[in-house]
Amino acid sequence: MPPNIQPPLPQAFLDRMARLLGDEYAAFRASYAAARGGGLRVNTLKLTPGRFRALAPFDLAPVAWSPDAYLVPEDAQPGKHPYHAAGLYYLQDPSAMIPAALLDPQPGERVLDLAAAPGGKATHIAASMGDDGLLVANEIHGKRVWALAENLERWGAHNAVITNETPERLAERFEGFFDRVLLDAPCSGEGMMRMSERISERKGEAARVEWAPELVQGCALRQSSILADAARLVRPGGRLVYSTCTFAPEENEGTIARFLRDHPEFELIDPVRLPGFGPGRPDWLTEGERVPGLGRAVRLWPHTGPGAGHFVAVLQKRSDVERAPVERSGWRFVQVPKPLLGLYDDFCRETLTSTPAEARLALVGSYLYALPDDLPDLIGLRFIHPGWWLETFKKNRFEPSHALALGLWPSDARRVLDLPSGGAEVLAYLRGETLPGAGEDGWILVAVDGFSLGWGKRVDGRVKSHYPRGLRWF
Ligand code: SAM
Repeated sequence: MPPNIQPPLPQAFLDRMARLLGDEYAAFRASYAAARGGGLRVNTLKLTPGRFRALAPFDLAPVAWSPDAYLVPEDAQPGKHPYHAAGLYYLQDPSAMIPAALLDPQPGERVLDLAAAPGGKATHIAASMGDDGLLVANEIHGKRVWALAENLERWGAHNAVITNETPERLAERFEGFFDRVLLDAPCSGEGMMRMSERISERKGEAARVEWAPELVQGCALRQSSILADAARLVRPGGRLVYSTCTFAPEENEGTIARFLRDHPEFELIDPVRLPGFGPGRPDWLTEGERVPGLGRAVRLWPHTGPGAGHFVAVLQKRSDVERAPVERSGWRFVQVPKPLLGLYDDFCRETLTSTPAEARLALVGSYLYALPDDLPDLIGLRFIHPGWWLETFKKNRFEPSHALALGLWPSDARRVLDLPSGGAEVLAYLRGETLPGAGEDGWILVAVDGFSLGWGKRVDGRVKSHYPRGLRWF
């Protein structure tokens, strides 16, 4: 297919939307033709929105929903700027920022993002928690989970655990454990059909090609099953947020109505409504399908707001329901053998100004991690990272991880090569090229305008790029 030519919108989808929306349909349909940029959310773990505005090399239009959110023009290409590689922002449609905002995670809590790849909402949650507490970001798909790991690594969060499990197995292990659970459910993706051609061209295309009425029905069934597992994971009094990026009533009000009928311990709560938040539409279900209160859900529309189509329901678990008596122990992780601990200390002394995470170090295979407080036992579960990945043990020495670099400030390192964002050197570093740089030999933290970008190794006045091969720019 030639670039920028999308497959047509499925006629059965358009017919259904025309029937549901009535007079509003013309505006909805016109929104698909409107030129638009994409959204961007600032990483508040690394900088304030004000500082980002002062630095940003492209035009930013504020999004009224959040001080961290901006719209960027079509031609800005923010994904190809070194600030993106430094984790200063995440490219995200403004509507996709609402589920994590309504989850409202707090510092110190235990939070689970059950269907987290590629990590838009998980990075948002990490920023809201201010790096304090436990964030478990789970993705069932064995390939997509690596995109999640990459995005959380760039984000620089220290408290994120990445698992690759089924919702059912997590529910069996962690019943009633989490203060907040987000289920951003797999869905028929009707809202994606309008995504920016540049930023998410493939998502939009796939949604248009794969859509079918049977897909909607299949998604609704799957959502009910995952939502039932998600409910088990929430503690009494805790919050469960369900979201989709589709318009289909079966997958939205329908899924929530079925859930509430089967789970009287949950109620649908009415979040603070911002301009552009539409109500849930119980009138799009049959009378037999409806339950009271479905209007409290939130619908986001492409013709009335700055982003794509989304649905969000905020559910609260009653606090008087009995907590399941689950025996839960902390993870008895492998203690780091003394000689390796010595090597780690040597590395920190030579390279850093302090030793990060002295307390909860764990060795998993040859990987050294700093575990978040409150980490439950993960033995027997599939996980990618049980915490902040610090280093890899290789032939009698430790090599620092990219995640360590992205989770440090330049002031944490004894040797720093801070490159200006507008220069050729930073691009050469990102391509994996060696740079000139006089000074003491050893590991050196490479930064862009004061934000960590990755490792280099200096020998005889030349800094070899250790920017990970898989991330290099071409
Ligand atoms: N929350 C993500 C973000 O903001 O970047 C997007 C999640 S996407 C809408 C839904 C995810 O659910 C996909 O990554 C998909 O692999 C996953 N998924 C598919 N089937 C699933 C299942 N049966 N149980 C749990 N997750 C599933």
